[in-house]
Amino acid sequence: MTGRIIDGKAVARETEEEVAAEVRLLGFQPGLTAVRVGNDPASEIYVRSKAKKAEELGLRGEQRVFPDSMSEDELLAEIKRLNEDPSVDGILVQLPLPRQIDARKVIDAIDPAKDVDGFHPVNVGLLHLGRPVLAPCTPAGVMRLIDSTKIAIEGKHAVVIGRSDIVGKPMAALLLQRNATVTICHSRTANLESIVRQGDIVVAAVGKPLMVTGSMIRQGAVVIDVGINRVGPELAQRLAHDEAKSRLLAKNGSVLVGDVDYARAAEAASWITPVPGGVGPMTIAMLMRNTVTAARWRRQ
Ligand code: NAD
Repeated sequence: MTGRIIDGKAVARETEEEVAAEVRLLGFQPGLTAVRVGNDPASEIYVRSKAKKAEELGLRGEQRVFPDSMSEDELLAEIKRLNEDPSVDGILVQLPLPRQIDARKVIDAIDPAKDVDGFHPVNVGLLHLGRPVLAPCTPAGVMRLIDSTKIAIEGKHAVVIGRSDIVGKPMAALLLQRNATVTICHSRTANLESIVRQGDIVVAAVGKPLMVTGSMIRQGAVVIDVGINRVGPELAQRLAHDEAKSRLLAKNGSVLVGDVDYARAAEAASWITPVPGGVGPMTIAMLMRNTVTAARWRRQ
């Protein structure tokens, strides 16, 4: 079997069109405020592209940028102001934050009704209770990608590799809610290979290039690769069998790969996400989705 490619860009575009159509029907403009502290170059790109995408879809996208020296109290005061501003429907604070600021305190200070990242403990609780909730964007996007294959989730064995608060844990909760039998694997899991091989659905969210090998994938499994890793010539040998990646690596000196050995896993999978162009594009689309949902729940 050779896996069909799940086109994350296409599913993200569809989601965004849906969001834009919903915004046109709302009769008001939902507002998303992205807060960035300091000048981490990756955060700068993320925050800018989130605000830009919001504008593109008819939302009000605002960036609030503060210096690296901002104190925790100052940021908490800013969050309070945004919580109280009726024109702000979604607040997201780009992580990581500078050392003097406790990210947990900041997340806990966001009004759960405006927590479009779905990281607030109230939202985490609601998610695990299976109640309506603003779910974390990356795993919510993965659910859409799986649904795009039309493969039924109910009754399937889903193996999630990784147990982070932003991907692995909420991923497992969303799959469980859809009646999958869920196994969560992590850094201390024994016999990882034999467990992953049982997965009808495998979601890898680890951050270790190519750790999921082709031999770990059961024939016909749906494989979702959340990992994003930029690798250099040190991986040239392990990528030798992947013509496309090898070519890019030779040309650019580095290449983006996921946690899954794509070329080999695709030989066994029924469906598989590429990196880039799989899970990545879904995260921003689901953030927009959450902002519109938050706006509807608060205002209607
Ligand atoms: P994290 O570092 O917080 O968590 C990694 C998890 O992997 C941990 O729970 C750990 O227990 C597990 N792990 C580590 N080594 C392991 C091993 N050998 N075997 C099994 N499990 C192991 O990372 P994260 O924030 O969850 O992100 C994971 C990856 O997904 C990263 O590559 C990140 O860049 C990517 N990511 C992508 C998106 C996106 O939009 N596409 C969003 C978030 C994260």
